Amino acid sequence: MSLWFTEKQTSSFGITAKVNRTLESENTDFQQLDMVETQEFGNMLLLDGMVMTTEKDEFVYHEMIAHVPLFTHPSPKNVLVVGGGDGGTIREVLKHSSVEKVTQVEIDGKVVEYSKKHLPHISCEYGNPRVELIIGDGFEHIIKSENRYDIILVDSTEPVGPAAGLFTKGFYAGIAKALKKDGIFVAQTDNPWFKADLIKNAIQDTKEIFPIARLYTCNIPTYPSGMWTFTMGSKVYDPLKVSIDKIFDINGKYYTPELHYASFVLPKFLQSLCK
Ligand code: SAM
Repeated sequence: MSLWFTEKQTSSFGITAKVNRTLESENTDFQQLDMVETQEFGNMLLLDGMVMTTEKDEFVYHEMIAHVPLFTHPSPKNVLVVGGGDGGTIREVLKHSSVEKVTQVEIDGKVVEYSKKHLPHISCEYGNPRVELIIGDGFEHIIKSENRYDIILVDSTEPVGPAAGLFTKGFYAGIAKALKKDGIFVAQTDNPWFKADLIKNAIQDTKEIFPIARLYTCNIPTYPSGMWTFTMGSKVYDPLKVSIDKIFDINGKYYTPELHYASFVLPKFLQSLCK
């Protein structure tokens, strides 16, 4: 008898993966956490039944959420990551030697604990002296921060449960306040096939708060629809005006200097969401 995990991405569509074994399953104080070993994508972290990250395709998301903003800013020193419990985003941020400190605010310590245990290549930078891990609510942290960060990355779950407040205009306004006068923020803003309204609202809110607001995309096979978006708000620096000779090799597997610009080229149906 074979075991399969299915994520219902909508009420009538989903993806399914053959599972060798379940490594962890716990109802934490915030969400249902499962870690399963899949045949195709290796170990897979699930929160409330949604794929968060897998050993095989994690690099796409983590490289793209980090390097596009960090190469857009001329000298990012102080970075905040909201969420990101698997550790992949801070791993990529730390590839930038200009970064003096990464503060990560993750609401659920169990995500960190089980990522350290079962996702060693993703969670490998926990314990780095440049990292301060705070187990707490990112929303609260943003509200009490002012003029503090060069870069803020919102690597949260979908806007349900503990992450519900992380996709509101008030939160984005709080981010603007927490950023320095030339700061940049990027939030993961889900997929255009099943969450078009979320993207439309996120980019519209960002446009009303930041002088530069852009959407960029990448392809993640285990995420809903396989097409993923990030919304960027920037107070001064335009990602499309970065000089290519400022982009060094990050020794990754997805992000390239050419892709830094190309990821902002949107298909027509996505352009209409950004109008
Ligand atoms: N890459 C994934 C995606 O795009 O859906 C996100 C991965 S990461 C595991 C998401 C993290 O956000 C989880 O560890 C979750 O506990 C955390 N999170 C959710 N709401 C939060 C909040 N209000 N403050 C801090 N962390 C939060």
